[in-house]
Amino acid sequence: MNRIQKPKGTLDILPGDIELWQYIEGAVREEAKINGFSEIRMPTFEATELFCRGVGDTTDVVGKEMYTFTDKDGSSLSLRPEGTAGVARSVIENGLYAGAMPLKLFYLSNFFRREKPQAGRSREFWQFGTELYGSSSPEADAQVILLANGLFKRLGLTKVTLRINSIGCPECRPSYRKALLDYFANYESELCDTCRERLNKNPLRVLDCKSPVCSGIAKNAPKTLEHLCAGCESHFEKLKELLDLCGVEYTVDPSIVRGLDYYTGTVFEFTVDSIGAQSTVCGGGRYDGLLASIGGPSLPAVGFGMGITRLIQALKDESLVPELKTGCDIYIAPLGEAAGKQAFLLAHQLREKGVSAETDVCGRSLKAQMKYADKAGARYVLVVGDNEIAENSAELRNMQGGERIKVSLSTEDIIDLIAGK
Ligand code: ATP
Ligand code: MG
Repeated sequence: MNRIQKPKGTLDILPGDIELWQYIEGAVREEAKINGFSEIRMPTFEATELFCRGVGDTTDVVGKEMYTFTDKDGSSLSLRPEGTAGVARSVIENGLYAGAMPLKLFYLSNFFRREKPQAGRSREFWQFGTELYGSSSPEADAQVILLANGLFKRLGLTKVTLRINSIGCPECRPSYRKALLDYFANYESELCDTCRERLNKNPLRVLDCKSPVCSGIAKNAPKTLEHLCAGCESHFEKLKELLDLCGVEYTVDPSIVRGLDYYTGTVFEFTVDSIGAQSTVCGGGRYDGLLASIGGPSLPAVGFGMGITRLIQALKDESLVPELKTGCDIYIAPLGEAAGKQAFLLAHQLREKGVSAETDVCGRSLKAQMKYADKAGARYVLVVGDNEIAENSAELRNMQGGERIKVSLSTEDIIDLIAGK
């Protein structure tokens, strides 16, 4: 029979790898906590319309990459390709916009995009994302950027580069849009089909095209920073001051426009060159118009999405993956039937006291059990036979150091010894 394989572009995260994921997730939660961000979990699928209106159907993410299906009642649903639109929907639906401001949320979730799988790019992937609602100030932008930066520092990463830009607001956008259209008019016949279409709908998208011809043309296109209104300009200046104040290094990169339609004003990316072509670990910015665009009140917001697999690659490249403890504290190896019962009870009692304890559940020989205990990474092994039961004591073997210590078969004594007391 044919073996069933996981769908293309998905990941099995197995024991041995999961410890690193948990370590990163722990760091994420700590960093979010000290910044006052609370966790939110959203549905895995939403109404397709949410992403069309929220993210924008001229984007690759929605236009080309979304997993969309028709439900039995005829409604169109899509697997979430990103988190910001779902959070925005939830903020409206649950009336969170009426609560204390700023509203600071984070998520650690999986997302789905039908992209070409390659290093750093899969069809199901994980993001740590933050959303700060209710402040239009540059301080809010700075805090979100500092949070991402704080996580990189917490993990020990040193080769992360921050790039910032401002893509303007509805006030400066029309003049910039016109400048772009004038520029691209000279190259219309050279642009790819999708970009020619994008030109009418949203010329900013052309700046984000991955085709070498389009990106070559886009290189010399007018820059948003040259078209900012006074408000956007002073906002951007203040943000730079705040980053300087906190000693965060950055470069201003006018080529950053981000791939989603909802961005306004500040946009930023953190990149790590060592991880190759997909070097953007974190991307974000301000999206003041998003909530209103999906039927909510007008509420400014800023946030980012950080790719966990790319973060993992960055940690590996800087040799920052810590020794993560796996395996049990103690493996109790019984010899014979009576000992089997005793070992089973002892393991249970130890677990009740918070010690990770294992014993034989496969009816194996002592030799096979020792092999298993070694493979499973047990820190200590206790061999229990008839003699040990009669004497109520056994030898506790330290699997790392090799020493053997006599111990009574009481949970307290065992705990004292393996805790090093
Ligand atoms: P890229 O330009 O690399 O496609 P993007 O602009 O589509 O990124 P966002 O939608 O802003 O990315 O997502 C934020 C982050 O999520 C990215 O910077 C990246 O780290 C991660 N990410 C996005 N798409 C994928 C994917 N298909 N596989 C793995 N990680 C991803
Ligand atoms: Mg993308």
